[in-house]
Amino acid sequence: MRENLDAVVIGSGPNGLAAAIVLAQAGLQVVVFEAAATLGGGCRSAEVTLPGFVHDLCSAIHPFALASPFLRTLPLARFGLEWIEPPVMVAHPLDSSAAGCIYRSVDTTCASLGIDSETYRSMVEGALGNWSKIDTAILGPLRWPQHPLALARFGMLALRSAERMARTFRTEAAQSLFGGIAAHSMLPLDRLPTGAVGLVLTLLAHVAGWPMPKGGAQRLADAMAGYLRSLGGEVVTGAAVTSVDDLPPCRAVLCDLSPLPLLRVAGHRFPPSYRRALERFRYGNGVFKVDWALDAPVPWRDPVCAQAGTVHVGGNLDEIAASERAVWNGAHPERPFVLATQPTMFDPTRAPAGKHVLWAYCHVPSRSSRDMLGPIERQIERFAPGFRERVLARTITTSEEIEARNPNFVGGDIAAGVMDLRQLFTRPTWRTYSTPLRGVYICSASTPPGVGVHGMSGYFAAQRALREVFA
Ligand SMILES: Cc1cc2nc3c(=O)[nH]c(=O)nc-3n(C[C@H](O)[C@H](O)[C@H](O)COP(=O)(O)OP(=O)(O)OC[C@H]3O[C@@H](n4cnc5c(N)ncnc54)[C@H](O)[C@@H]3O)c2cc1C
Repeated sequence: MRENLDAVVIGSGPNGLAAAIVLAQAGLQVVVFEAAATLGGGCRSAEVTLPGFVHDLCSAIHPFALASPFLRTLPLARFGLEWIEPPVMVAHPLDSSAAGCIYRSVDTTCASLGIDSETYRSMVEGALGNWSKIDTAILGPLRWPQHPLALARFGMLALRSAERMARTFRTEAAQSLFGGIAAHSMLPLDRLPTGAVGLVLTLLAHVAGWPMPKGGAQRLADAMAGYLRSLGGEVVTGAAVTSVDDLPPCRAVLCDLSPLPLLRVAGHRFPPSYRRALERFRYGNGVFKVDWALDAPVPWRDPVCAQAGTVHVGGNLDEIAASERAVWNGAHPERPFVLATQPTMFDPTRAPAGKHVLWAYCHVPSRSSRDMLGPIERQIERFAPGFRERVLARTITTSEEIEARNPNFVGGDIAAGVMDLRQLFTRPTWRTYSTPLRGVYICSASTPPGVGVHGMSGYFAAQRALREVFA
C-alpha cells in the first residue's frame, strides 16, 4: 500500500471507480478498497451456470454508460472496452399482435409503429434536439440549469405518469412498449416520475443505444479500473472496510455505499440527526433474477424479438401496470413483468459455440425469498413456446441473495433507494454527496442521479471533494 495517500474510496462499483478516476486525474494518490473478491460492484460478470457461459451478475444493458457526460470522456477503448449495439434496442412481444420495437433510428421506430408513428415522433423529437443541453441536468444533482427553457420543456413533457403517457398511443404495441420501459422505475405506473423514467430511457435508445460491453459488464468495470491504474490509482479487492476509523491516513474518504452500509462503517462518527436522516432513507422493492445457459437461442414466436438486446416480457400495458402495482402492495404476481437480455445473440464470446446465455429478472417485494422461477419461465414460454426445452442449466438469485452479494442493494433493491419524486434529487438527504464529517462523502447510486451504470454520482461527489478538500 502506498504512503502519502490523498483519498480512499470504499467500494469499486462504477461510481466508486468514477470517483477514484476524477481524483486521480487531478493528480491525487487514491486507493479503492473493495469487499468482494472481484471489482465492479453492480457491473460484474461470472460463469454462474456452466463453464464457458459468461453471465452478468447485475447490470447487462448500458445506455447510461454510453450517454454519461463523464464516462464518455474516458479512453476506455484503450483498456479493452468494446461496445456492441443490437439491431433492435428493445422488443415487447404481445399475444395477438406484432411486438413493439424501438430501434436506434427514430425514423425506423416510427415506421414500425404504424398509426402511432406521429405521436411517438412528437414525444421524442423535441427532447432529442435539446439532449446535449439537458443531459447533465438529467444525469446530475438538482441545481440551476444552464438551459432552463430546454429543461422546462422536457419537464412539461415528462412530468406525467407512465400510464398517462402510454395511453396517448392508440395501439397495444406502442402502449405496452412505453409501459414496459417505464416499469424500470420499479414504481406503480400511475405514479410520478414513471413517465420521466420511461421517456429518458426511450430517448437514450436514440441518443446512445441500449448497448452491451463485448464480453460482459465486467469489461466496463475492468476498463475503468485499468484506466485508474494507468493514472497511478490502486484497487484492492477482498478488503471489506468495517469502520472508517481503520482506514489509512488520508484527507478524503468517498463511500460508494448506500445509507445502511454507510451507517455500519461511519454511523458512530455522524451526529444523531444525520444518522436518523439516513435511517429514514427509503429502499424500494427487490428483484428475483435468473441466469440460464441455453442449448439454442430463445425461440421467440415473433422473430423480431431475436434481433433485440432487451426483451420486455409481460403482455400488455394493463398487465404490466397490474404486476408493478401488485409488487408495490407487497404481493408476488403470478404473471410478473420480466426484463430479459440475450447478449449471446450479438456476442458469441460469452458462450461455447452455438450456445447462449439469457438474463432476466422480475420485481418482487423487498427482502423476498420467494422462488419466482416458475412464473418467470411461464411468461417467457408464453411468448417463446419450447423455451424450457432449450435450458441446459439455470441459477436463481433471490432478493435476499442480491443483498448478501452486495450490501448496497438493501432488500434486493437494485436502485439503492426508491426513485420517487421525494427521493429523486435529495438522495440520501438534502446534503446529497456531503456528510456532516469534513472529508467524508457519499458517491453511490443513493445520490443523484441514482440507479444505473453512469459513474455520474462518483463524478459529482469527487468534484465536490476536490473543491472542498483539495482546492
Ligand atoms: C440484477 C441487477 C440488474 C441491473 N441491471 C442494470 C442494467 O442493465 N443497466 C444499468 O445501468 N444498471 C443496472 N443495474 C443497476 C446498477 O448495477 C447499479 O445502479 C450500479 O452498479 C450502482 O453503482 P454504484 O457504484 O453506486 O454501487 P455498486 O455497484 O453497488 O458498488 C458498490 C461496491 O461497494 C462494495 N462495498 C460495499 N460495502 C463495502 C465495504 N464495507 N467495504 C468495501 N467495499 C464495500 C460492494 O461490494 C460493491 O462492489 C442493475 C442492478 C442489479 C442488481
